[in-house]
Amino acid sequence: MDATQIPTNPFKPTWKPLTELHIHAGGGLPASTMWTIAHQQGIRLPFEDYWDFKDAITITRAKMMDLDEFLHSPKNPFHWCEMIQSSPEAMEHTIYEMAAKAYRKCNVDTLDIRFTPMKRNRKGEKDLDHIIAGALRGLDRVMLEYPIRVGLIFCLEKGFPAHLNEITVDKAIKYKSRGIVGIDLTGLDSGNKFNADEMAPIFHKAKAAGLGVTVHAGEGPEQLSVKDAITKLGADRIGHGIDSIHHPEELELIQKHDIVMEFCPTSNIILGLLNGPEDCKNVVNTWMAHGIKFTVNSDDPIFFETNIKLEYNFLRENGVLTDKQLDQCTAIARKASFLNR
Ligand SMILES: [Zn+2]
Repeated sequence: MDATQIPTNPFKPTWKPLTELHIHAGGGLPASTMWTIAHQQGIRLPFEDYWDFKDAITITRAKMMDLDEFLHSPKNPFHWCEMIQSSPEAMEHTIYEMAAKAYRKCNVDTLDIRFTPMKRNRKGEKDLDHIIAGALRGLDRVMLEYPIRVGLIFCLEKGFPAHLNEITVDKAIKYKSRGIVGIDLTGLDSGNKFNADEMAPIFHKAKAAGLGVTVHAGEGPEQLSVKDAITKLGADRIGHGIDSIHHPEELELIQKHDIVMEFCPTSNIILGLLNGPEDCKNVVNTWMAHGIKFTVNSDDPIFFETNIKLEYNFLRENGVLTDKQLDQCTAIARKASFLNR
């Protein structure tokens, strides 16, 4: 460390500001905060105590589950987190706290946060506009308090009928000037019922309105293909996309369309999609060999006990990426944030 790097304040992070593009509100708050929000709202949780709750929403390497189980089983941590976050007050608290924590703990200064509004309204019992307004209040507050830029991405779901996804896009367009920066497509379509052709007009509507498009694709072999995400849904960025390394035509397509990949190493490892640092190296080396841009992200930091700084550390300490390459990932992320639109 040279003299210019000596921190003037022992509490302030010493590393350069980071950017995170792929983080879900459902997996973004500490268990203790989720516990508090649940109690503030009088929600009766079926857990013996706080520790039982924390255990239920944390997926460590010791209790790995596959992607299908993670998204669909009754043990699915998203279920509890989305239920707890299903009120305007809870969404305000969630967005505020996630961004404030990202700034204080990881020195993040640019952040795209995603969530599914349609999974925060208790199946229509709560008004969607109030849920969105709550999230926007959290956004306004955190940007008043900390020097961080935050944009919200609304998630569409692979398992939803088209009309529900279209309502989400209409809301994203309606609130675009207030801080909604893009849309995403998430969830698992294990029944292979997702029809990319049917959904394409909805995605193009969002794009024509100036919203960014990111799509969870190629996370595992059974997922929506990266090719369809790019050619049919018009993705600007791909969530995960690690399966692309097995498909030369997809690698070519990603490079040709200048698509930015959102790599989430710990998430991929804990869900059994990658085996460890060697597999991570294989993914990033293949992308680099094809001139593909990628970024580093945490996905669901609380479920996987990680954060973006820990992801950077993991990749550096295991020789997956050098400091210079990680700086390059940060520069790519900064440029690819939908906040720039
Ligand atoms: Zn994700």
